[in-house]
Amino acid sequence: MTTTDSATTAILDQPTRLAQLEARNVSAWFGDHKVLDRVSLLMPAGKVTALIGPSGCGKSTFLRILNRMHELVPTASLAGEVLIDDRDIYDASLRITDARRQIGMVFQKPNPFPAMSIQDNVTAGLLLTGVKADRATKEQLLEECLTKAGLWTEVKDRLRQPGGGLSGGQQQRLCIARSLAVSPRILLMDEPCSALDPTSTRRIEQTIKELASEVTVVIVTHNMQQAARVSDQCAFFLAEAGTPGAIIEHGPTNLMFDSPQDQRTFDYVNGRFG
Ligand code: ADP
Ligand code: MG
Repeated sequence: MTTTDSATTAILDQPTRLAQLEARNVSAWFGDHKVLDRVSLLMPAGKVTALIGPSGCGKSTFLRILNRMHELVPTASLAGEVLIDDRDIYDASLRITDARRQIGMVFQKPNPFPAMSIQDNVTAGLLLTGVKADRATKEQLLEECLTKAGLWTEVKDRLRQPGGGLSGGQQQRLCIARSLAVSPRILLMDEPCSALDPTSTRRIEQTIKELASEVTVVIVTHNMQQAARVSDQCAFFLAEAGTPGAIIEHGPTNLMFDSPQDQRTFDYVNGRFG
């Protein structure tokens, strides 16, 4: 085929524009249960932001609000703003599919389409977002995304085999490649390594660090060593005694670990609770 679809050309040729994400006064409810209270956080372009804190303090809820997945829960509601650069992703003029294409998500448990081939898993996102691509373009995109996800050399000779046949760590990198295929500007990751062995975990951490030059990363992690290794800044969430989750403290990762301002942050990063 000689013609190239213009939307595809745009996806491949445009240098990814780095974006910052900013939450302003985000509160969230499930029914009348308030789970987040006025959370504000700037997630700078091209940096890795780690969200830390004990379970139940609203980290996953906050992450889902950042790409409009929270509203998929029937009882869920929210207040506040989420700005990508200066545009509110909840603005009625921004289509939900555009918001989600710009803000990708990788989940705790790797969720490739198990019976689908490795290559089709990667390009699946193109179909879902309505981008048409010819074969050569798809092949180029496939290699590019698998390379960025740190998986290319391991799978290049078995691209037609099912995604479900890969190891857990490889499946998670496949999911990262799938997210990258639609050129997101932000990549959200909710405890992406918590189901993986230490070797796979380190491999994914390396991938995250490499990705940060072209996509803004926000990662939830329970693993303090991981937060220290991969992130540029951390935000510490806490929901104290039945109150909704809030950010207690945030700042550059080294300061959060070495000289936190709040005693609760100190106790948490030093493993005294949570
Ligand atoms: P974390 O990721 O920090 O562990 P979550 O965001 O998952 O915290 O949960 C925050 C609070 O919201 C918890 O009290 C949890 O029980 C509640 N919650 C999470 N998801 C739902 C849901 N789908 N329906 C009702 N309550 C929920
Ligand atoms: Mg969670």
